Amino acid sequence: MARAADYYKTLGVDKKASQDEIKKAYRKLARQYHPDTNKDSGAEERFKEISEAYDVLGDPDKRKKYDRGGVFAGANPFGGGGPGQPGGATDFGSFSDILSGIFNTGGGRGTRTKPTVERGKDLETSVSLSFEQAIEGAQVPVTVATHAACTTCRGTGARPGTSPQVCPVCNGRGVEAQGQGVFSITRPCSRCGGSGTVIEEPCPTCGGQGRLREMKRYRVNIPAGVKEGSRIRLPGKGEAGLRGGPPGDLYVVTHVSESPVFKPKGDNFEVEVPITVAEALGGAEVEVPTLHGTKKLRVAPGTKHGTLQRLRGEGPPALGSSSRGDLHYRFVIDMPKELNKEQQAAVEQLSKVMNGNPRERILRAAGQA
Ligand SMILES: [Zn+2]
Ligand SMILES: [Zn+2]
Repeated sequence: MARAADYYKTLGVDKKASQDEIKKAYRKLARQYHPDTNKDSGAEERFKEISEAYDVLGDPDKRKKYDRGGVFAGANPFGGGGPGQPGGATDFGSFSDILSGIFNTGGGRGTRTKPTVERGKDLETSVSLSFEQAIEGAQVPVTVATHAACTTCRGTGARPGTSPQVCPVCNGRGVEAQGQGVFSITRPCSRCGGSGTVIEEPCPTCGGQGRLREMKRYRVNIPAGVKEGSRIRLPGKGEAGLRGGPPGDLYVVTHVSESPVFKPKGDNFEVEVPITVAEALGGAEVEVPTLHGTKKLRVAPGTKHGTLQRLRGEGPPALGSSSRGDLHYRFVIDMPKELNKEQQAAVEQLSKVMNGNPRERILRAAGQA
């Protein structure tokens, strides 16, 4: 009856993996199988599995529950978010609350609070953008894995016509006592995993979880000027709220391809412009790329290596404003490693006509001349 998926296997990590390792493994797989980029048949299913595994292993609390052997009836590794962990609220949590209402087991775990509305979880997904898309803005499709209440069982997890029962092992208390007298300790119930209820006949659609993975697709307007790692918030596009609560938000994190020419430097771009020795010495007018074509820049006679020139307001657009950064052009003198005969002769000639020893003044200042 239970879906006994091995979440560790799904993510390809060791049972002792750190939260960080789990996160890394998840990110890698999620990128690999994301339906936006991977059009293979089966990729979407795999993506769902990965998301589901991360949902549990990525949360230290849920992971602990899962590690304890979350194969209780209706195997719900998401656990019935108990008191004191409102963050663990899942659809299943609401289901437990519904039950406590039905059976009025109330005091079972002492502090079970009345069902209250709860805001849905925020979701996060990422998109890959070309350098141009980040500059100009773009509309891109995103797919996010979210949860929806199972329509077959209306979220209860029990086969239609049946209902979840008070756990016969712990009588709904969710804990079992071990040992005697002063040495007795309690631990979460081995049968129900602490939820206090069991599902004798799980819903065939959701396997007793009360909810299903659902893929939602949106077209997201990426504003001009996003950078690597920008987070765009889409209010209300996160997971559905519980018991009529408002939905969470969706955050879209942008990954931007690097340009081989325009290098981000703060709010500006920097472009390296190679110039010849002759151009550096004698000055020149050189053609350089801009974001929308080319422009001519003047190289002054005697330009030093590393000299910067700016084109103000021609750089990247600032996110959420109409202003733009600058383009910084850095002139770098292209030094030939080898000279042919003709060039060698020209350099010798140049050496003859450039008179004087520029090091004289430092030698003099050092008292050596
Ligand atoms: Zn169901
Ligand atoms: Zn129990």
